[in-house]
Amino acid sequence: MQQFHGVGVTPGRVVGPVRQMPAPVQEPHARVDIPAGVTVESETERIRAASRAVQAGLKARAEVAAGDARGVLEATALMAADPMLVKGAVKLLGPGAEGGPRTAERAVWESGAAVAEKLRGLGGYMAERAADVLDVRGRIVAELRGLPAPGVPASEAPFVLAAEDLAPADTATLDPAKVLALVTSGGGPQSHTAILARALGLPAVVAAEGVETIPDGTEVFVDGAAGRILTGPAQAERDAAAAWAARASALAGFAGDNALADGHRVPLLANVATGTDAARAAAAGAEGVGLLRTEFAFLDRDTEPAHDEQVAAYGAVFAHFAHKKVVIRTLDAGADKPLPFLTDAQEPNPALGVRGYRTDHASPGVLARQLAAIAQAAKEHQAQVWVMAPMVSTPDEAAAFTHMAHAAGLPVAGVMVEVPSAALTAAHILAHADFASLGTNDLTQYTMAADRMLGPLAALNDPWQPAVLHLVKATCDGAAAAAAATGNPKPVGVCGEAAADPGLAVVLTGLGATTLSMTPRALPAVAQVLATVTLAQAQHLAALALDAPTAAAARQAVRSQLPVLDQLGL
Ligand code: PEP
Ligand code: MG
Repeated sequence: MQQFHGVGVTPGRVVGPVRQMPAPVQEPHARVDIPAGVTVESETERIRAASRAVQAGLKARAEVAAGDARGVLEATALMAADPMLVKGAVKLLGPGAEGGPRTAERAVWESGAAVAEKLRGLGGYMAERAADVLDVRGRIVAELRGLPAPGVPASEAPFVLAAEDLAPADTATLDPAKVLALVTSGGGPQSHTAILARALGLPAVVAAEGVETIPDGTEVFVDGAAGRILTGPAQAERDAAAAWAARASALAGFAGDNALADGHRVPLLANVATGTDAARAAAAGAEGVGLLRTEFAFLDRDTEPAHDEQVAAYGAVFAHFAHKKVVIRTLDAGADKPLPFLTDAQEPNPALGVRGYRTDHASPGVLARQLAAIAQAAKEHQAQVWVMAPMVSTPDEAAAFTHMAHAAGLPVAGVMVEVPSAALTAAHILAHADFASLGTNDLTQYTMAADRMLGPLAALNDPWQPAVLHLVKATCDGAAAAAAATGNPKPVGVCGEAAADPGLAVVLTGLGATTLSMTPRALPAVAQVLATVTLAQAQHLAALALDAPTAAAARQAVRSQLPVLDQLGL
């Protein structure tokens, strides 16, 4: 029996076999000496054999898959033997090929890139297939190298996914029906892996050093609340997992129109990235969208998405929230969400670099064109569209962005408060901006100077840190001052992961947050806990948390007065 400890990010107890996430496929070197005995013919045959093997593997998976997954696998299998990809690679092999001879791996890599570029150029449905070509390319290169296929492993039986960390792009291939829990050695509680786990309602533990060494097939017990992973579970752990499954299904759904015990309304909104997410959020009863992460739709792009494509992507979300609020965030590129057309991959310190709103200076025009696309999509739908910029640090930036958004025909323009300077100057920022939204994930990493992706810093990356709560209060107080000075309401929402923590949701409400936005999965638990307190009680609990010396003490002080958390197993 082995134990691993990390930070629990989503509660839940499960037992299941581990499957390790293979390492991503590295780009083959452009310049390598072709070994003696390797001929164009032998490399051609290797490429053809690898593409046939990948195709056969995908076909076999398609045969046993159901629904959408089957169609996707069938289409991907076809692509693995695509003549454009394979012939294109073969053409690059010989000494006469432009740029000199290449290995089979390198030829497939370059041919895949060229096909993907061509598809993107065609736009529409074909452009969407570009990512599939790159997926297939990675699979063929892995096959050529004798490595496991990249991406989330395929398995008929449900499994516990173990990884160093997940890239946002991996998340699209994660099937919640197959993945019982997620355990990573890296990442922090606010990393995008953790955000994904919450969105899928998957029990998850991050920053659990050593889990990447658990052999495939090992049965483990995962406790997502305690942050514990145990190999060789005993009967007690199996009983705990069964009890959790029974209790989780008892947590009622969300009825909408969320209010505290005294009737004080705190609308609960959803964090989404795509039209599919929005459909799920609407079905879950979300009262609107508090954060539309626009960059997630374009993570695989080398070039700026075209106007029409952007209009369609945003409209797909607006369509699900007619007459309801949708807060759309302009591209938040940078750090763990690089967009090659906006961010510099060579920056030594990308979390402190040209990211979020700051990219408007380095790549002028992209933001203005995005605002035009958002305005167009807003015109075509009935949603009440609010727009906001990420990573705003100064009142000047807030003024410039608000001016730009209003000029684009978007009447409600705000900023995210994710940097301590924005929290501390909130009154000046909100003299310009129409609203603010607290991004507690980044606000925590910048307050504590702790990279949100780093497992060893997970304890610092905790939004219960009293320093972070003081900055939340400063933002809400600043907004109240700006409202009094301007005579206009200045709402402050929270759209970081903190809003999905039911105990912290009470504290944030007590500090003055007017709306809370979260993954739709969290709505029922947050609503049920908020319904047990009045605004005065929430303010009292917020004061206790603010006065606590540590994050643990703040959490404990609030938990001890909110017995509903234990009753619901939260
Ligand atoms: C945040 O920082 O809290 C936030 C909501 O933005 P993201 O997680 O996308 O950086
Ligand atoms: Mg952020």
